[in-house]
Amino acid sequence: MKILVINCGSSSLKYQLLDMDTHHPLAKGLVERIGMAGSVLTHRTAAGAAAVAKKVIEADIPDHKVGISLVLEALVHPEYGVIKGLEDISAVGHRVVHGGEKFSHSVIVDEEVLQGLRECIELAPLHNPPNIAGIEACRKLMPGVPQIAVFDTAFHQTMPPYAYLYGLPYELYEKYKIRKYGFHGTSHKYVSQRAAILLCKPLAELKLISCHLGNGASIAAIKGGKSIETSMGFTPLEGLMMGTRSGDLDPAIVAFIMEKENLSSDEVNDFLNKKCGVLGVSGVSSDFRDIEEAALKGNYRAQLALQIFAHDVKKYIGAYAAVLNGVDAIIFTAGLGENSGSMRADICANLDAFGIELDLEKNKIRGEEVDISVPDAACRVLVIPTNEELMIASDTEALVSKTFP
Ligand code: ADP
Repeated sequence: MKILVINCGSSSLKYQLLDMDTHHPLAKGLVERIGMAGSVLTHRTAAGAAAVAKKVIEADIPDHKVGISLVLEALVHPEYGVIKGLEDISAVGHRVVHGGEKFSHSVIVDEEVLQGLRECIELAPLHNPPNIAGIEACRKLMPGVPQIAVFDTAFHQTMPPYAYLYGLPYELYEKYKIRKYGFHGTSHKYVSQRAAILLCKPLAELKLISCHLGNGASIAAIKGGKSIETSMGFTPLEGLMMGTRSGDLDPAIVAFIMEKENLSSDEVNDFLNKKCGVLGVSGVSSDFRDIEEAALKGNYRAQLALQIFAHDVKKYIGAYAAVLNGVDAIIFTAGLGENSGSMRADICANLDAFGIELDLEKNKIRGEEVDISVPDAACRVLVIPTNEELMIASDTEALVSKTFP
């Protein structure tokens, strides 16, 4: 079975065509600058896990529908295509950021689901509209091909009310659905499933803390394969300090900044999402590679940004160890979690009281599935490269096989 995975952002879209027999992409690519001058599609074909060719197509791409039609043309192109015709695509899996309380699982899209997705727009006004645009475009361009929505929030819908409710009047939850939703669910789900395989134990018996540390960062406490707590909240702004997001703050600071800096609610929201985090603390960059480099050269604010980040992650690990009443394994994933041995070492330093101890040689390994803890450590520490596209495709395959056997 071949599954197309689509992830639509406001002005870009990423795609992968996966062969579900091998779990490898046949082709993948990126459409950039949708609706702007200089829009471009970069299409790569692959053999197994390796990229073999790259084709850059410059074209006028006013909207997502035109972008997707170019992607489909590229996939069947006689020269750089990878399939004979669109009928070779069994289904399309779409990443949808917010499913609210309505969607606790991936679903096959129909009119009713589309209406439900539209109702979630007010919870994710920047993200859900392009996700919906991508789904609508595929429904028109590929009639009869099942379209599946896979939600970033769905995995965390298993959190109990005492974990997802804030200390606000209950009426605000009833009126506006203000609660913790959590994000990166597809990634947390994928790495927790891989952890069970790596540990040779049933997922149902495991207590895991999954640390998705990329430009956006979140942590989840996963018991028996179910998320019971996570650090992101009503929006992805809550939790860890991130590349450009502040993470947890005293809420009174928001009104204080608005008054002092004369900012509107939109402006302060933009500020907290785009100008804070390690970028704001370091004044260097939002990219951890730049910050690690500056810190090595003695830049105090860069060193401070790394220390705050490691301290934040450590606090959540401690909190989630309590919530889970013990931890079998900690998982590091995403750009920083997979690649930065020094950040993993800083986070795991002085956690021996929790049975956490790294093998510093194994910790040098990058981008591979590996257990980096010392042999007798009570709590394993795993590096597991995430693969959200494969998780979306697997959910899509499972749903399609069940519904249309
Ligand atoms: P997102 O998908 O949220 O954009 P990624 O998971 O791709 O994030 O992670 C991107 C981040 O990972 C970059 O901002 C960078 O800071 C960090 N990163 C990637 N490679 C390394 C590395 N070798 N060392 C340190 N940080 C890295």
